[in-house]
Amino acid sequence: MEKLSNPQKTIAIIQKYEFAFQKKFGQNFLIDEHVLRKIIAASEITEDDMVLEIGPGIGTMTQYLAEAAGRVTAVEIDKKLIPILRETLAAYDNVEILNEDILKVDIARLTEEKNGGKPIKVVANLPYYITTPIIMGLLENRVPVKSITVMVQKEVALRMQAQPGKKDYGALSLAVQYYCEPYIAANVPPNCFIPRPKVGSAVIRLTAHEKPPVAVADEKMMFRVIRASFNQRRKTLVNGLYNSPELDFSKEEIQNALEKLGVSAGVRGEMLTLEQFARLTDFLMEGKK
Ligand code: SAM
Repeated sequence: MEKLSNPQKTIAIIQKYEFAFQKKFGQNFLIDEHVLRKIIAASEITEDDMVLEIGPGIGTMTQYLAEAAGRVTAVEIDKKLIPILRETLAAYDNVEILNEDILKVDIARLTEEKNGGKPIKVVANLPYYITTPIIMGLLENRVPVKSITVMVQKEVALRMQAQPGKKDYGALSLAVQYYCEPYIAANVPPNCFIPRPKVGSAVIRLTAHEKPPVAVADEKMMFRVIRASFNQRRKTLVNGLYNSPELDFSKEEIQNALEKLGVSAGVRGEMLTLEQFARLTDFLMEGKK
């Protein structure tokens, strides 16, 4: 069948099924073949890969994924899209469509069932309203993934790869970089979608680290410390950590830990590297013993 990346074909399918775009589901469908090819190239999919696609829409990217990968499981929340997907993907026998909310799917279990627990690749043009919970869910739940290649809002892609001291640097940068190596593969303007989103987009690939680049005794505690450090951006680190409802350290304990780290008590969270957050967490925990 003719590819849906041809805008006329997309419009014809939408009219045939009288499909109404749902803003609440973040529905902006890709209509640019060049961008689709870039996503497939960036994801480095081979026939050995099982791919999880989040939000296939009418199946535009799924057609390309099915041709490149061994198997594709596509999870779509909107039940109105399911009959459309059955038509647009009829030629591919290696695609399975699940009508589910991705935030309610146990992806680690799905990976176990569909790929014997071997790492999968995630590829998606994400619904932007749930980008962070989807990405954090994949990372924090230690879903076995080789890589995650996703279209996101450009500003979110910049936050994911930001370095200390930069304005975009924050808790998301540190979480992503603890688990993965980020790489922005393309910038994508609004006219590559139907309907056009109000924001610019970017394709980012997150390649999973074999092991995290820093060692920390209590990983969960480190992320609490990181969140507390960025919750009150204009406050010093001492106040941010002291005021956090997630943490229980006295000002003295915090000051002692910062001294051991060799940074001034007036430092702000956005100046610390991932390695410094790991050490700071270890010093805070040691101070409690
Ligand atoms: N992959 C298609 C494309 O590139 O043209 C569609 C991408 S569109 C930006 C996002 C898709 O995610 C929509 O099809 C939307 O219905 C779906 N979606 C939104 N929320 C979802 C959720 N919680 N679980 C699964 N799919 C969801």
